Amino acid sequence: MAKRDYYEVLGVSKSADAKELKKAYRKLAVKYHPDKNPDNKEAEEKFKEAAEAYEVLNDPNKKARYDRFGHAGMEQGGFSGGRGGMSMDDIFSQFGDIFNDSPFESFFGGRGGQRGGGGRPRGQKGTNLRIKVAMTLEEIANGVTKKIKVKKQTNCTTCSGSGAKDSSSVKTCGTCKGSGYVRQVRSTFLGQMQTTTTCPTCNGSGQEVTAKCGKCQGDGRVFGEEMIEIEIPAGVEEGMQLSMRGKGNKGMKGGPPGDLLINIEEKNHEFLSREGMNVVFELYLNFADAALGTSVEVPTLTGKVKIKVPAGTQAGKMFRLKGKGLPSVQSYGTGDQLIHVNIWTPKKLNDDDKVLLEKMRGMSNFDPRPGKGEKSFFERMKDYFA
Ligand SMILES: [Zn+2]
Ligand SMILES: [Zn+2]
Repeated sequence: MAKRDYYEVLGVSKSADAKELKKAYRKLAVKYHPDKNPDNKEAEEKFKEAAEAYEVLNDPNKKARYDRFGHAGMEQGGFSGGRGGMSMDDIFSQFGDIFNDSPFESFFGGRGGQRGGGGRPRGQKGTNLRIKVAMTLEEIANGVTKKIKVKKQTNCTTCSGSGAKDSSSVKTCGTCKGSGYVRQVRSTFLGQMQTTTTCPTCNGSGQEVTAKCGKCQGDGRVFGEEMIEIEIPAGVEEGMQLSMRGKGNKGMKGGPPGDLLINIEEKNHEFLSREGMNVVFELYLNFADAALGTSVEVPTLTGKVKIKVPAGTQAGKMFRLKGKGLPSVQSYGTGDQLIHVNIWTPKKLNDDDKVLLEKMRGMSNFDPRPGKGEKSFFERMKDYFA
């Protein structure tokens, strides 16, 4: 299913400020909240769609990237993988910011137990991991899937991430009685308001560990490696950032993982350089070829192409190979290859070369725009200095 435009989802204009975004999102979050729409798949999708749109548009970096590249330029994995976008955990953890200053908070009672069937809240979220991926122009032209070994904090297999020595060394947290959350009731001018926060004793895991796992010292994770397959779309450019949700460092004590952030770098090409969606090739011709005309093979991103250089081609002339450039990351067309003509002037001359060139120097038509009743360039220069 094609993704709807994020601005359309929230019903806001491109210039909407943080306050408008928040207001628009709150309205949708209340309307489609799972507690109000039990077992309603469509409401759940709408709820997630709104959360995703808000998450992107409320983040200046993500918003800028979205404005520029659309969905194609956005996050991989969690966002574009068709797996339903953000997880409910992500969405509910976002609510702290959204409903903090709002009476809506009390409708929901935070993200605590009422969600039904939603599993126990878990430990602290892992940190994001940043890697650089260098791409050749050819890879950028076609898009590429790279397998990259990433060093990161992974789940401790000895304790399955729990941090506990064994099953008998885990007991229910006394502070939150296992819910992972503690409730506070505040009095405000709107009346009694209930807030729910992560339990400070167990960090939301709902459990206390009495004896720690020997391998990870109770952390629930160890330093390791993971081979990650990263799908990079065609048309990306230096400085762009992609992200894969959940591929970052594992969380503490079974907490959710952070994201993997991928920074795109471009490798230099031996012959081609990039100008936006176009690629540029500097062609050097010798003087005789330029004067007599010739055909030359030039490199392109899709193999060599033969081009005809007409007789009398001047330095600075530009040839264009349509469609031989780079695709737009949003699939709006493809750039061209531009071929800049340079005439190579020989620097080292032997005696024979010199004789030949002295002869050429005297050729009458070596002067730009000679004849046609008009004075030549060289003659006019002479007049000018006289
Ligand atoms: Zn607790
Ligand atoms: Zn362990």
